[in-house]
Amino acid sequence: MNHYRQIAPRSKEAGGQLFAQFEGDDTIIVEATPPKWCDRRNRYNFHPSRWLQQQEIRKRYSCGLHFVGDWHTHPEAAPQPSQEDYRNMQDCFNKSIHDLNRFIMIIVGYAEAPEGLHVTLIGQNSVQLMFCENNL
Ligand SMILES: [Zn+2]
Repeated sequence: MNHYRQIAPRSKEAGGQLFAQFEGDDTIIVEATPPKWCDRRNRYNFHPSRWLQQQEIRKRYSCGLHFVGDWHTHPEAAPQPSQEDYRNMQDCFNKSIHDLNRFIMIIVGYAEAPEGLHVTLIGQNSVQLMFCENNL
């Protein structure tokens, strides 16, 4: 995720999926996938290929990895999710088949972490801010 921070003035939004292993009560994110060739990307938008994402989820699941959420970049230092970000993630949560209480949404700004990270847990009818340096 760090590699895709939109530091250059023309760099495009990027994003991918988060895959985790479950150990007891812990969810351990072990992989953040990079953007794919058929994602639609520009400076202010990132629209992943849903078809390719489904393939990734199936492939990882057979290796014991569970889809737990998405990440994407924003062209701002300390990122704030847009209403569309919340809507998309909630939609993804509601339409997916899973046993999770929440999905994770990570937005990556161009400032280095921790300032440049915004982490939210999104459930069926809930949004829970987990980490945002500016709000601490
Ligand atoms: Zn966004």
